Amino acid sequence: MAWTCTGSSNSELIDNMARRGIITEVIGDVVDGNKTDTEAAAGRIATAMKKVDRANYVRDKRDAYEDSPQSIGHGATISAPHMHAYAASHLLPYLPPGGRVLDVGSGSGYLSAVLWHLVNDPVGRKDSSVSDSKDQKPTITGIEHIPQLTEWSISNLKRDGLGDAVEKRQIEMVTGDGRLGYPPNAPYDAIHVGAAAPELPQALVDQLAPGGRMFIPIGTYMQNIYHIDKDKSGKVTKTEVMGVRYVPLTDRESQGKYV
Ligand code: SAH
Repeated sequence: MAWTCTGSSNSELIDNMARRGIITEVIGDVVDGNKTDTEAAAGRIATAMKKVDRANYVRDKRDAYEDSPQSIGHGATISAPHMHAYAASHLLPYLPPGGRVLDVGSGSGYLSAVLWHLVNDPVGRKDSSVSDSKDQKPTITGIEHIPQLTEWSISNLKRDGLGDAVEKRQIEMVTGDGRLGYPPNAPYDAIHVGAAAPELPQALVDQLAPGGRMFIPIGTYMQNIYHIDKDKSGKVTKTEVMGVRYVPLTDRESQGKYV
């Protein structure tokens, strides 16, 4: 069903996902509460995704508004829009104003941009007790191990109107091994992992703030998305969410094997 959401423009793509109930369906799984909450949350995801023009994050602009993954070179892909909607939905309650987010395997920078808009969304939860830190650390940290992709993601973000946020270091895209997280900007209220880890990287668990959530695909041939939730006392729970197919979270040398 998701593939039929393809549009001729960015907003048509998002409207098609909304009309077909994909965003609501996704949110309905993850938002506790009633239908109104679900619809409001779906509206926030759609609004944030409309602010991010996918044409600025793909290599082949002719297919920018197709609801399918697209190669971005170096053995990496930009995920399908409905997968980005899934990821953003699962993390939505963990994106309070002033919150901090780590996007591991940030690739094109597309999801980093959506997450930035969500954290800065004025309708965000005001009652969050996850983090009220107002220090100078960036709101969004993207970590990617292919330096050319990091550079490309920065130019994509700038082209997409987020140059100011990049200049002010509200969004920081770094090159490094995401399996180790990025300690200088930790802890994170939400961690998104955009590549499948053979096992849960402990460094990422350590860098998750109490009250925070990680969204991570784990597995090699068979992969599942897990929620890794850390409660206020630091207790960690792991919940299987759904089966998926992601590129591997691996070392730089091995990545070429998957091209
Ligand atoms: N979410 C991004 C990219 C998804 S593809 C998008 O939609 O554009 C997964 C990304 O993870 C690739 O860019 C790949 O280079 C990166 N990656 C794989 N292993 C990594 C590692 N150990 N550290 C950092 N990035 C990694």
